[in-house]
Amino acid sequence: MPSLRVLLTAQQIQARIRELGAQIEHDYPNGPVYLVGILKGACIFLSDLARAMNTPARLEFVGISSYGRGRSTSGEVKLTKDLDVSVESQDVIVVEDIVDSGITLSYLIQVFRQRRPRSLRVATLLDKPERRQRPVTVDYVGFQIPDEFVVGYGLDYAEDYRNLRDVCVLAE
Ligand code: 5GP
Repeated sequence: MPSLRVLLTAQQIQARIRELGAQIEHDYPNGPVYLVGILKGACIFLSDLARAMNTPARLEFVGISSYGRGRSTSGEVKLTKDLDVSVESQDVIVVEDIVDSGITLSYLIQVFRQRRPRSLRVATLLDKPERRQRPVTVDYVGFQIPDEFVVGYGLDYAEDYRNLRDVCVLAE
């Protein structure tokens, strides 16, 4: 049976998101800023982040599929749901749940650059820098975490655990 060990509590997560929200508000005082969440994992982080800032924000989502065995990305990423609007000449922040190898994010950055936004930045709740295979710049990082498989706060294992309030390590 898998077991769960709390890595980040709901209180720690919410406190850090308030700091990130304040930082984004400082960087984008006027707005609108387009927060583009990657389905499904980033939806909970995006909802809380959007409410942690006073800058007017527009919420958009894209869907991706990545082909990998088990718990990691293989390198083949595909857009399964595109943006519903043009972000040309807009300020865009891509919102990720976790950056691991960096393969997903480097693909998305390339896709969004083609849309000619005025600015393009990246926010992630979690970052596993040890696992990086592609160099990516992440502008807003919630927490750097060690190389462990985590679930909760949007992150799943086979679609389970997304609605846990804490981020937990899933151990076999
Ligand atoms: P990357 O392309 O950076 O290797 O992987 C990013 C995606 O892999 C994340 O958006 C997430 O879907 C998945 N992923 C990477 N590490 C974890 C993890 O520890 N837990 C979960 N649930 N998903 C992860």
